[in-house]
Amino acid sequence: MKQPLELKSSGKTDVGQVRSTNQDSFLIDESHQLYIVADGMGGHAGGEIASQVAIEEIQKYLKNHEESFQRNDDDHTKIISQHLAQAVNHASARIYERALEDPALKGMGTTATLIKMVGNRAFVAHVGDSRLYLIRSGYLYQITNDHSLVNEQVRAGIITEEEAKIHHLKNVITRSVGYQEEEDVDTTSFDISDKDLLVLCSDGLHGKVSDQEISKAINEKQLNSVEHLIDLANDRGGEDNITLVVIQVNEIQTQT
Ligand code: CA
Repeated sequence: MKQPLELKSSGKTDVGQVRSTNQDSFLIDESHQLYIVADGMGGHAGGEIASQVAIEEIQKYLKNHEESFQRNDDDHTKIISQHLAQAVNHASARIYERALEDPALKGMGTTATLIKMVGNRAFVAHVGDSRLYLIRSGYLYQITNDHSLVNEQVRAGIITEEEAKIHHLKNVITRSVGYQEEEDVDTTSFDISDKDLLVLCSDGLHGKVSDQEISKAINEKQLNSVEHLIDLANDRGGEDNITLVVIQVNEIQTQT
């Protein structure tokens, strides 16, 4: 029988050192075990609105479909992943419509990376260059694949990972939520286990702090790493908004 697991989490968003507004948003909804990071883009408050609307609409959509997550048929995991992708596209349509209503918001969009936990399984949906990492037994794995111009060039062998880090177009993403009515949403799922750590972050963090540093800080400080990692990104210039959510998985200790 599977051991019941409990989740604890901590998250924070920070405007950084340079920008006057914070276009990142995040959600920790412990009662629905839903966690989202969204990094908005677009002038005239567009970025802030896009990331906030994405989070609200994804949360609302998934709440309305909560019942269908509890089914236990063979295509259970497929159905949940489909719902997650639909939730992201529902948000995309709302953001797109909002931009049509107000010309100042034209072209706004956002990344969205989310985890919905169902039982002991993490379901993931992802668009853009925010990231999900899994830290298991001390090792860090990047679960999501950045939808960015530089990452496409790295994968095609045109530039190296080192070149990508300092590339002048490193902020250009190739998929976003809300820029158009619908977008291709990556989905995946995996079983979680005792002592796993899950990390959602915007590029304001992973663009400034290396995977090794993220892994070390979270292995050592667990949920208390959030402040430390945001400080690190700020110490290095903090040119972008910085957002981080850390989720800690623990076996529920049953009383005997
Ligand atoms: Ca950003």
